[in-house]
Amino acid sequence: MILVTGATGQFGTSAIDFLLKKDISANTIVALVREEEKAAALKNKGVKVRMGDYDDYASLINAFTGVEKVLFISGSDIANRLSQHQNTIDAAKEAGVQHLIYTSFQRNNETETSPLWMVAQSHIQTEKWLKESGMKYTLLRNNLYMDFLPAFIGENVLETGGMYLPAGQGKVSAVLRSEMAEAAANILTTNGHEGKEYNFSNTVAVSYPEMAQWISEVSGKQINYTSPSAEDYAKTLQNFGVPAEIIGLFSSFAVAQAEGELALVSTDLENLLGRKLTSVKDFLNSIYAAKE
Ligand code: NAP
Repeated sequence: MILVTGATGQFGTSAIDFLLKKDISANTIVALVREEEKAAALKNKGVKVRMGDYDDYASLINAFTGVEKVLFISGSDIANRLSQHQNTIDAAKEAGVQHLIYTSFQRNNETETSPLWMVAQSHIQTEKWLKESGMKYTLLRNNLYMDFLPAFIGENVLETGGMYLPAGQGKVSAVLRSEMAEAAANILTTNGHEGKEYNFSNTVAVSYPEMAQWISEVSGKQINYTSPSAEDYAKTLQNFGVPAEIIGLFSSFAVAQAEGELALVSTDLENLLGRKLTSVKDFLNSIYAAKE
């Protein structure tokens, strides 16, 4: 049996949909869900649903019993993620899971000086625990979801004509979340991935000035990119009433991109999918192209 954690989330839902397209029976797929009300759609797809919460060790043991492989999707509760991930790895081991595939995060700087340390720290520690666990493991080092680029670009960019972000000339190798999920499903259903560390990055890294130019071309509207200092960025967003937490998140991701934290390119994902990845340019075209 294959169990997918975070099955009610976007990555997990997509991974399960790709698994269902494989030549395996739906009742060999188990979805880990923490709220019964969210299980209906999964049950309708024919997959098994087991209740479990990263905070509840006993529930994880129950859920993992009889499972061979786990797609462990990292938790979204950053403040409590370390203990949650420790629970998950320990419970998987205790329940006899043989192979754990973990959605980690792309990075360069593995020290506290990283602008993304708050996010990276728990991924780095989780990878370490996994390697020490004695279970077979596969690490997926996910780059930024391409799906998030419009939020960095600015949701109203076509009306404002401006992109305002402290990302400098930095490049990002963003990938569609669904393409990462499809590759995860491929890994779960094929052999030879034990001990592998895959970079789920695009084959081309792109900068925000390039994105501004492409959006201008396809939309027919001039888009100008401005990269303020992180301090000026925070002040401007504060003046618009954006909550401090959101400003911190966007600012740290933008500065990380300026510093090249997410610029690594790789053919790992392309090889796992057996086709070219969706490029940032094509993605932006699909969103911002002028309507007929
Ligand atoms: P998502 O839609 O927010 O899904 C998160 C999933 O984790 C949900 O199923 C959620 O369950 C589950 N979860 C959260 N806390 C849990 C707990 N204590 N016990 C059990 N399950 C729990 O996120 P996503 O888009 O699928 O992304 C998956 C993960 O990638 C995120 O959780 C985050 O770690 C990471 N991420 C990566 C990027 C990137 O750009 N690479 C961006 C954002 C996030 P509920 O439905 O019950 O809440």
